[in-house]
Amino acid sequence: MQAWTHPACLAHDTGPGHAERPERLRAVLDALHAAFPTLDWHEAPRATRGQLLRVHTPELLSTVLDTQPTSRVHLDPDTVLSPASAEAALRAAGAAVAATEAVLHGDAKRAFCAVRPPGHHATGDVAMGFCLFNSAAVAAAHAIEHGKLERVAIIDFDVHHGNGTQAIFEHDTRVLYLSSHQSPLYPDTGYLEERGDGNIFNAPLPPGSGSDRFRAAWRDRLLPALEDFRPQLVIVSAGFDGHWRDPLAQLQLQADDYAWLTNQLATIAGRHAGGRMLSMLEGGYDLQALAECSVAHVAALSGLQPA
Ligand SMILES: [Zn+2]
Repeated sequence: MQAWTHPACLAHDTGPGHAERPERLRAVLDALHAAFPTLDWHEAPRATRGQLLRVHTPELLSTVLDTQPTSRVHLDPDTVLSPASAEAALRAAGAAVAATEAVLHGDAKRAFCAVRPPGHHATGDVAMGFCLFNSAAVAAAHAIEHGKLERVAIIDFDVHHGNGTQAIFEHDTRVLYLSSHQSPLYPDTGYLEERGDGNIFNAPLPPGSGSDRFRAAWRDRLLPALEDFRPQLVIVSAGFDGHWRDPLAQLQLQADDYAWLTNQLATIAGRHAGGRMLSMLEGGYDLQALAECSVAHVAALSGLQPA
């Protein structure tokens, strides 16, 4: 089990009062270091322009990488580009690529990327919803183009729908995209009838759903689709904003729900993908919930017992 991060991800400065703040990543790193002293940490490289261009337009690369702001610039009301943001976005996507390489080459069966900014709202051409580059999509594209895989699954349990990931792959049946999310909620996509070319499965859940409805959606609808797809690699968009403590949503999940789902995914990955899984930190805006949920998730991913 490998873990990837980079100090640049802490320097992405969204400004005072912003929910997607450096303290989120600090909470995850502190919790993981305390719980798993033996975790195999690596410093993320930068993604290359070529790796990013597999899923993003040259115009989006130019906006994020070439603007070089001297102070904070708002790309939309939620999404901020600070002087340090380009480097953070490159390292977050670079972690995704490096973790993919490690898992595909057999250096590790599992990897977790503790990075920010998150990625799943970024479409091919638009940075939005706190996201600059879609790191999970960059990982999937790398596994397909470089790793020559034919079936890659992206599992998104962030409380928000990953509209960007869906938009990037909705006509690419080499990728299966499965998402549970609160609905209605930002970004107001992810309805049941959005099926792409048959490779998209959404499970919108009403506010207040709680553990039982969340687990039922995965057990009855999403996990069977994953099993049928026979993924060669499982990529997780791991957002922990479904937790009951989270201030941005009301799905009312517990840390144990993330452990349960991660175990289910690991079982299916074991059957079809040689156990190969990598996970990207997405959302989660309560520091205590982030700490508890990331430990529960990484424990299930790694098989390590938290200290
Ligand atoms: Zn989210």
